[in-house]
Amino acid sequence: MLKSHYCGELRPEHSGQTVTLAGWVHRRRDHGGLIFLDMRDSSGIVQVVVNPQTAPEAHAVASEARNEYVLQVQGEVAVRRPGTENDAMPTGAIEVVAQSIISLNAAKTPPFYVNEESPVEELLRLRYRYLDLRRETMHNNIVLRSRVVHHIRQFLSQRGFIDVETPILANATPEGARDYLVPSRVHPGSFYALPQSPQQYKQLLMVSGFERYYQIAKCFRDEDLRADRQPEFTQLDLEISFASQEDVLELTEALYTTMARELRPDLKLASPFPRLTHAECLRRFGTDKPDIRYGLELTDFTELVRNTEFAVFRTVVDSGGSVEGICVPGGASFSRREIDDLTETAKTMGARGLVSIAFEAEPRVATEEQIRSPVLKFLGLELAQAIGLNAGAGAGDLVLIVAGAGGMPAKEVGSAGRVRPALDTLRRTIAAKLDLADPNTLAFLWVIDFPLFEWSDEDERWDPTHHLFTSARAEDLALLGSDPGQVRSNAYDIVCNGQEIGGGSIRIHNREEQESILRLLNIDSETANERFGHMLEAFEYGAPPHGGIACGIDRTAALLGQGDDIREFIAFPKTKSASDPMTGAPSAAAEDALKVLNIAVTATEE
Ligand code: ASP
Repeated sequence: MLKSHYCGELRPEHSGQTVTLAGWVHRRRDHGGLIFLDMRDSSGIVQVVVNPQTAPEAHAVASEARNEYVLQVQGEVAVRRPGTENDAMPTGAIEVVAQSIISLNAAKTPPFYVNEESPVEELLRLRYRYLDLRRETMHNNIVLRSRVVHHIRQFLSQRGFIDVETPILANATPEGARDYLVPSRVHPGSFYALPQSPQQYKQLLMVSGFERYYQIAKCFRDEDLRADRQPEFTQLDLEISFASQEDVLELTEALYTTMARELRPDLKLASPFPRLTHAECLRRFGTDKPDIRYGLELTDFTELVRNTEFAVFRTVVDSGGSVEGICVPGGASFSRREIDDLTETAKTMGARGLVSIAFEAEPRVATEEQIRSPVLKFLGLELAQAIGLNAGAGAGDLVLIVAGAGGMPAKEVGSAGRVRPALDTLRRTIAAKLDLADPNTLAFLWVIDFPLFEWSDEDERWDPTHHLFTSARAEDLALLGSDPGQVRSNAYDIVCNGQEIGGGSIRIHNREEQESILRLLNIDSETANERFGHMLEAFEYGAPPHGGIACGIDRTAALLGQGDDIREFIAFPKTKSASDPMTGAPSAAAEDALKVLNIAVTATEE
């Protein structure tokens, strides 16, 4: 090694030792005589002092050096003079007195500060990702991610799981997204699909008798990207034979609890994780990935307002819709403008409007003067009071109500379709506005009993809520033919702080059951055999009952690192338009490369 020690490990007990360091110039201060260099390597930073009298040659090199130069420094560790220590640095009690310095490489002036956490435009950061990753926060994020994976591997291998790699060049496995296709040169006109998940392979490994499989697996989904989506992402994928739902939940919960306690002992974590059925979760929070660090739970006013004269509510209720709302503690002080903004927010989520009722006094005793609402005269005092009481409002609180989704076809899942997404968004917006979510809490929960299918308006058909290998709850099997929308599945999601962290299910393991699901999904038997024949066949050779889960590694790292954006926890992520400004991917292919693949590009949109 070109170094005897790492910069960040030096402490007073090293004083008197001659050490060799190699790293980058983090900061350089030339005091006209002494030059101070903050030297950085992957372990941290240490101060080097260069004296022109005692080390003139080293001083000459240090004079030439600039930020991000790569230097090798030999010197003696010395305890700093009292009063010059730096408590903010782990190495702040010592410094290295340089004897010789060699410049290993020069550096151009970086396009942004590497030694500061100042905001930098994302495109520039991604264009120079190798410099961005030198910055302290990014460096720590990537190290944290590595510790997450290390914890997972250790935890699972102690429990008898074996790590099996599965193909990247595969056939389509549906997880609800578009596939990335790879043309085959050897089979002109044929394509591999990059796996949306290793779902089929892991189930086949259960048929092979491995019983406990896991993999840190790359998955590929060609979707329109949002802040929390990447075209390729990493999952902890696992599967267990002879396991019940309870087994998978307990194992995953233990994994996350031990991981959080080990990697972030400073964060609060409630254990055991609460379990909510999908129906209860939607009813209370309007979403299947609620943030339960704060209240603002939904109240259903549909019955209460059934006979009101207020036309907006009345028409919605008469047409089978619902009227639901949340109570914002202290929200009576929101200005007209603030309420208008919230109304706009609700509208972007499909709500037709937002009804607000502010209570200056306890709803039970509030007079007309103490209730402020643009619709008070339509509701009447009594109903307004009752709404306040129902919502649990006190003096100074604000009730916000969304009504909608009347007259939708019964098939449409969640007849409250337009109401709950709006209330979910309002809940999140208000929590952020009022700082209700404690950033130092990890509030995990399980959502269970998902419906097996959801109705797709766009495609006018049933789609699997999880994926088509998920089994139905035994007691609901009878409804499969008559009322598919009511069938619950053995699927579960793990959620934390308003984000889905993972999901899984107990699978179908027999041919007939799998075929009946495929039929329900309108997949004819020819297509079924073509696409899933190997699965159907495998189920006929003694497939054990099995189930598993997959959890997002990027999201898990972001959660433990208290970041919002998974890209901050991926070394080389793509932009929102799925490109990489550093390498230029994706890019046009050479003519002859396309020719051997029998591919002709007919039109491009650029
Ligand atoms: N394959 C599923 C997914 O990627 C996870 C699972 O069912 O285990 O979401």
